[in-house]
Amino acid sequence: MSSFAIYDVRCPECSHVQKAQLFHSVNGQRLGAAEDAIIEGRLHLVCCDRCGNEYLAERGVIYIHLAKKQLVAMYPRDQMQQFRYLEDHVASVFQREFVQMAPNTVSRAAEQLTSRLVFGSRQFAERLRVFRLGIDDRLLECTKLWLIKQRLADLIELGSVELCLDDRRDDTLLFSVLNLDSGTDVKQMTAPAKILSFLDQKRDDFERAYPDLFAKTFASATRYFLPPPLRWTAL
Ligand SMILES: [Zn+2]
Repeated sequence: MSSFAIYDVRCPECSHVQKAQLFHSVNGQRLGAAEDAIIEGRLHLVCCDRCGNEYLAERGVIYIHLAKKQLVAMYPRDQMQQFRYLEDHVASVFQREFVQMAPNTVSRAAEQLTSRLVFGSRQFAERLRVFRLGIDDRLLECTKLWLIKQRLADLIELGSVELCLDDRRDDTLLFSVLNLDSGTDVKQMTAPAKILSFLDQKRDDFERAYPDLFAKTFASATRYFLPPPLRWTAL
């Protein structure tokens, strides 16, 4: 079942505050248009009543599609540096709500789910797009790590970046290169789609080198480009 509430949202252009209906959770099976809306970046798109500006009111939301065995928890992008805490939190909430306390039919289905944690509307859209394209998302993230290393000379002047798959057309993967801090587009990049099958042969090597990418819910190359957590040390 989907759930939502009415929130005050503020236009970034003119600061006008208005009411908007924002989802807490989306059942993709019952709300068929939701998958398209998320992939096209239209979920939580608000049109300002005063100036007509369209903007995304970014609020955390859980997307679930039991038949497709997909569960994606999206948090706002500005919380991405806390991913280590949030992926443990999401895993425990998921275990409690969908496995321990849910009816048997739901808990059996829930144990089969591919559960993922993403940050912001771009990662949210990308993850559902990748599922729809039938691409193994963890393999895609390995591909991003490989591409960033291969093309370091082109990317280094851009500072910290992440790659976001926009589409696969014919034999080509189309990526946006995003600034890691702001999430804004800085460049486009393409790569031959056959890289996916080439790197699939090296999957065991990737799994040994990047175990968290395969074991944790924030299955993203970006986790390796974020600063390590603060540690308290004795003075
Ligand atoms: Zn406005």
